[in-house]
This record gives sequence, C-alpha cells and structure tokens, in this order.
Amino acid sequence: MKIEFSQIMDYVKCPIIYLIKNVYGITNEDLNTQFQREMKKVINHFFFRVMDNTIVSVDVLKNKWEALWFDSKGIELEDVLFRHHETKTKMGYQGVNMIENFHRANYDDPGVPLAVDFDYEVPIGKHIVTGTLDLVREIKEGYAKMVEVVHFSTSNYVPDEWETKTNLYTTLQSYAFRKEFQTKEQRLTYYLLKTGKTISTIRSPDDFSRLENFVDFVCTCIDANLFYPRPTYICRSCAVKEFCEQWGVK
Ligand code: SF4
Repeated sequence: MKIEFSQIMDYVKCPIIYLIKNVYGITNEDLNTQFQREMKKVINHFFFRVMDNTIVSVDVLKNKWEALWFDSKGIELEDVLFRHHETKTKMGYQGVNMIENFHRANYDDPGVPLAVDFDYEVPIGKHIVTGTLDLVREIKEGYAKMVEVVHFSTSNYVPDEWETKTNLYTTLQSYAFRKEFQTKEQRLTYYLLKTGKTISTIRSPDDFSRLENFVDFVCTCIDANLFYPRPTYICRSCAVKEFCEQWGVK
C-alpha cells in the first residue's frame, strides 16, 4: 500500500476520521490544521531565501503571514474592532508573535539549509510511505558541523522525555532522511514555534523496526476496512462529529 504518514496518523487518532477523509473524500479541516499549514509556508519562505543567501526581515515574514491568514480568511479591521471572527483573529495575532520569536532566534544564525519542505517517498516493509521534511540544515556546534532534521510545530503540546524518545513521526523523519540522502543525521529537532523551545533526539535501528511494525499494523487494519469511532478528548474539537454521529445508525 502507498500511504501518506498523515493518513496513518489520522487512522491512529480515530479510524472514523480516516474513513471520512480518505474513503468518503470529505475534508473539513479544523482551524489548528490550517494554522499549522499556513505558518509553515512563512517558515519555508524564510529558509528558501536563506538558500538564496538572503535573510529576510521580520516585516517580510509578517506581511506574508498577513496575506496568508488575515487576508485569505477575510478578516478586516472592522472584524478586529467588533470582535467578529474572534478565534481566527486571536490565532492570527498568536501567529505574529510566533514569527517575531522565530525571526529573533534564527536571523543571526539560520544554519545552511540543505533541504526545505522536502517531499519524500520511502519503502517501509511492504509499504511505501510519503511525507515531507520541514527542514534539513547544517549547523555548527563549537568547531564541529552537524546535520539537523527539524520539524516545526505550532501546537501547545510539549512532549515529555518518553514521548520524544518514542515518537513515530520523528522516527519516520530520521528514516526518510537516511533513505533519501544516503547519510545519517546527527540531530532530530522538534521546534515549538509558540515558545521557541527546541527538543532534540536521535534514533537507532530498533526504532526503525518499531516503525515498520507500526506502519504494517495500521495498513493491515485499513486494508481490512476496520473503521470504528474512537472517542477521546479530541472529540470535543473534532471537525467531523456530525458524520460520526451517523456511524452504526441503522
Ligand atoms: S467525534 Fe470522536 S469518535 Fe467521532 S470521529 Fe471525531 S474523534 Fe472519532
């Protein structure tokens, strides 16, 4: 089976979310997903320009964000003044803060980007998994140079030590990088844009074996049409709950 890693994670989140999005083709993206996608375009722009030997100013990034979030969401000055679109407006301003923090932390020493927004397609066991690496860059640590694979997140969620060590998305990033670039990274970094905090880790062959089994189990369930609701705390903000209510109803 050929599958995107985000589809695997949809299934793991809740098989009904996978079913509605990928079998029925109904997409009802929540605001957080839209926010993450648009913010990544701003971050990508920064590193693409670094590849052209240019460090853009924070105003360039903020203007890009304005076009991507405020303009495309139809948020006008009146909406801000009269508190229409309140959630979107609030998120928009959180985005501005993220951009300012990100620029402050990176404009001086962004490293040498080797790949930005890089699409990969790698075999894992009997399956092909696709996805994207946000950033691969060469950085300096003292006198040594090292290759770092970075994932940017706009989430509030801060993984603990165990989650950082076992996170399968991070494992896939390492695996995909090694397959596509035929070399080994020295550092995998989870970059939390909200706080500017970074968490770094590494992976070993045992982690890749765990990833292969995980991918195989999920693909086997999808092949067998095993789709059922998995109620958790995410139901509260689930974008497909109207559809979910109809599941199992005769
Ligand atoms: S409401 Fe809950 S159980 Fe239903 S699809 Fe959404 S996450 Fe799954």
